[in-house]
Amino acid sequence: MNTNANNARGSHPADLPTTRHTFFQASLMTALLDGIYDGEMTIGELLGKGNFGIGTFDGLDGEMVIVDGVCWQLRGDGSATKASMSQRTPYAVVTNFVPHIVRDAPDDCVRADITPYIDSVVPSANYMYALRITGEFEWVKTRTVVKQSRPYPKMIEATEADESVDFENVRGVIAGFRTPVYEKGISVPGCHVHFIDDDRTGGGHVLDFKLKSGTIEICPGTDLQLRLPLSEEFSGAQLAPEDLDEQIHATEVKD
Ligand SMILES: [Zn+2]
Repeated sequence: MNTNANNARGSHPADLPTTRHTFFQASLMTALLDGIYDGEMTIGELLGKGNFGIGTFDGLDGEMVIVDGVCWQLRGDGSATKASMSQRTPYAVVTNFVPHIVRDAPDDCVRADITPYIDSVVPSANYMYALRITGEFEWVKTRTVVKQSRPYPKMIEATEADESVDFENVRGVIAGFRTPVYEKGISVPGCHVHFIDDDRTGGGHVLDFKLKSGTIEICPGTDLQLRLPLSEEFSGAQLAPEDLDEQIHATEVKD
């Protein structure tokens, strides 16, 4: 596929979503930041809302990635195991992934190159996008939250000491979402993505990567179904902290 032609096509109104597509989200990023780590929703129920997505598990016990309808739990040592249907999530975003936009990724690109590339092929910054990058990675730098015990610390403290785990020369998939800035607080603005290798043995929350070659698939989202917890913790949570930007940066970007 020719890259220049792709770029030219990317901004064409023909690529604007013409059908509605719902993303489902359990709880809020700000609730997670405030230490609301126990959810009400089971993985079995979550998978009924989508076959693709990311999130975390009760007690912040690892990162979640859902690919092809299977939910994986990624732990601090970089390992991946299949989650059980009865586990619960305090925060997750899922959808039934339909690859409306498909592009060959530019070769040998790092995360900082892919982000503007994705921005150039999506028709508008004002929709939500589910992203799937499949291919051969020279390296993927990940980090993963570790299980917390009660009383739960805020996420900025809970993630302070997370070690990063690097994967090298590996085939796999990066899955996640590009979220508009206006959703700040509901979700993580910008790209929030998780990695799992092709063998489904390892992965984590992606900090950076170098993709040798691969494919980018994009599913635009036009509707958001937000499910707020009914718990006492949630009703009493501080969901509009003044240092929201700093908290999101420290917990999700970690540089
Ligand atoms: Zn994450």
